[in-house]
Amino acid sequence: MRIDIITVLPELLQGFLQESIIGRAQKRGLADIHLHNLRDWAVRRDRRIDDYPYGGSAGMVMQCEPIDRCITSLKAERRYDEVIFTSPDGQQFSQPMANQLSLAENIIILCGHYKGIDHRIREHLITREISIGDYVLTGGELAAAVIADAVVRVIPGAIGDEQSALSDSFQDDLLAPPVYTRPADYKGWRVPDILLSGHEARIREWELQQAMERTARLRPDLIKK
Ligand code: SAH
Repeated sequence: MRIDIITVLPELLQGFLQESIIGRAQKRGLADIHLHNLRDWAVRRDRRIDDYPYGGSAGMVMQCEPIDRCITSLKAERRYDEVIFTSPDGQQFSQPMANQLSLAENIIILCGHYKGIDHRIREHLITREISIGDYVLTGGELAAAVIADAVVRVIPGAIGDEQSALSDSFQDDLLAPPVYTRPADYKGWRVPDILLSGHEARIREWELQQAMERTARLRPDLIKK
């Protein structure tokens, strides 16, 4: 899949996108992520893309024209499944949403800044608005990174053991069971015996029971779902 991220701070995302799983997924051709500096689409000579809000309130607002020009030029190249705007008043991001977006061919993620973007862009060009939580960030870049990471991670082949993505927390409304690795005894802190028993079926049963117990205790709201 292809992800186009529109931002005034491409440098902020550059390093992140080259590292680890998301970097490897791109090298393997599973994901193709492009950063676009919104200032390249500025219409003013000083490359500014914001202006004072109508109505006289405080803060600055990102203007329509640079955003429209950038999105229009991308749309001229290919068909986009979604044009996403990161926004605290958007739909709360979730694992099902990440799974669903991972099936898309092409998506755009627009990062806001300052007070946000001119509302007409949201009305006319944005197809989906996503929040990563009930708090306000200074810009949409971290939200775009969160979305891209979660989406790319579930593309088959992105993480080594495919089974692993499916057994993560939230994939089945259950939190993940605890995990352990060698040594079996560290300073007297022992790995549960069952995991060393070699009884495949009983181990799976133990993991499920742990997942259910942890979910009931830590996230009772998921059980209700
Ligand atoms: N005035 C806006 C907040 C602007 S914050 C409001 O009250 O809703 C500046 C930008 O940061 C936003 O346009 C958005 O793109 C991004 N942002 C901030 N918090 C976010 C969150 N929780 N989820 C996703 N994007 C967020």
